[in-house]
Amino acid sequence: MIILKTTQELELMREAGRISAGALEAIAPFVKPGVSTWELDKICYDYIKSQGAEPNFLNLYDFPATACISVNDEVIHGIPSKSRILKEGDIVTVDTGAKINGYNGDNAYTYYVGEVAPEVQRLCETTKEALMKGIEAAVPGNRVGDIGHAVQEYCEARGFGVVREYEGHGIGNKVHEEPGVPNFGKAGRGPRLLPGMTICIEPMINMGTANIKQKPGDDWTVYTADGKPAAHYEHMIAITENGPVILTPRPLLDS
Ligand code: MG
Repeated sequence: MIILKTTQELELMREAGRISAGALEAIAPFVKPGVSTWELDKICYDYIKSQGAEPNFLNLYDFPATACISVNDEVIHGIPSKSRILKEGDIVTVDTGAKINGYNGDNAYTYYVGEVAPEVQRLCETTKEALMKGIEAAVPGNRVGDIGHAVQEYCEARGFGVVREYEGHGIGNKVHEEPGVPNFGKAGRGPRLLPGMTICIEPMINMGTANIKQKPGDDWTVYTADGKPAAHYEHMIAITENGPVILTPRPLLDS
């Protein structure tokens, strides 16, 4: 069942989104060679708590941290670690969220660690633009498939692999609600988009093959099958009569 939110609920979602986005902006100055992914996670945790909110990824399905932090060929669900030290030329995705007043926020961003190779920058820029293409398709009357179609077409036309096994989602009182929002699909298919829906759109795009694998001995971390890098950007949006509204604005990161 897709839960439509009232105007009042959308204001609460906006607050959860503001804090979730603020966490990603708070860590940006610290994303440098030499920092551990554990330190970035700690900054996320402290920021979310400082806003009177709760880190909603922590213990969700038993996930052990505030943020999923995934480096280079890790696509999603990387576990922060004191021994994982970022180095010049890496890319690192931080996916995190906050819950406040019973409502959840969720968003993700792939950062550059120092100077990043041009082809990796192109992957990241394409993924970021694909997210915006997906958001533009999230207008009332369209369908969920229009979002995935927009993302897939944009990325595949540029030679990148679109991960199929993981997808965006509805969000509200729970982090994951219906509908699922795939990053691929057919235009005009799937559930109708209606005002009051709140969804997360989150393209996970690989430089090479779309195929992924699970790290042996780790129930979480998802890697690219070919070892090439992956990028992942996510916004939480509301669908309104006037079109999509981003609930996780990141003026410092997305400018
Ligand atoms: Mg999400």
